[in-house]
Amino acid sequence: MRRFLAALLIAAVLLPAAAQADLYDSTLILVNKQNSLPQDYEPKDLSYPDVAYADFVPESRKQMREVAARALEKMFAAALEDGIELLGISGYRSYWTQHEIYYRRLEETDLEYVSQYVAMPGQSEHQTGLAMDVGSSDCPFLSTDFVLTDAYAWLNQHAHEYGYIIRYTEAGIPETGYAFEPWHIRYVGDVATELWANGMTLEAWYRQRLSGSHPVRQRRFALSAW
Ligand SMILES: [Zn+2]
Repeated sequence: MRRFLAALLIAAVLLPAAAQADLYDSTLILVNKQNSLPQDYEPKDLSYPDVAYADFVPESRKQMREVAARALEKMFAAALEDGIELLGISGYRSYWTQHEIYYRRLEETDLEYVSQYVAMPGQSEHQTGLAMDVGSSDCPFLSTDFVLTDAYAWLNQHAHEYGYIIRYTEAGIPETGYAFEPWHIRYVGDVATELWANGMTLEAWYRQRLSGSHPVRQRRFALSAW
């Protein structure tokens, strides 16, 4: 991870603004407690996935980036064919929306809980437009009970076929720094199947790709792979 961060730092310092924007727009972008998006980053291709949503979801929370939205539609339709009704709950959130959520939760509860479940502004995958929190007709809200549903079992088995991973797994807690969130899925494209088959977090995938490389080569890799 330290090597990866060094590569990211080099990229951030040396790259012209346009190339940095490309970096943020990659479907493989790594956003976590160590890698933040800038306040003003907003995806340029936000779109409304034509899927079912939980009743309480405002229009503003339904957006995702184009590629993730189309894949979500295919996945929800395939689940429905198997008798599973998935529901969208929360997609794109701007830096400032996340800011509001984070500080409101801090007022409501303690820091330890918040740090396990709520990303700081700039560190949320929801700002990438590539993440969606999902529920199902029998669990139409964000709950760890979602793990007990057939919908979760279906997602766990099939999400990768549509380019999605369950991003915060039980086994991944030491690497992601977040509690198990069965409802949070993230679009990563073709890499999803590799991550799923090996039970890897996105952090572990980057570490494996970047290990043993010279920092400059890492930077080249980061540019070509993202
Ligand atoms: Zn989420």
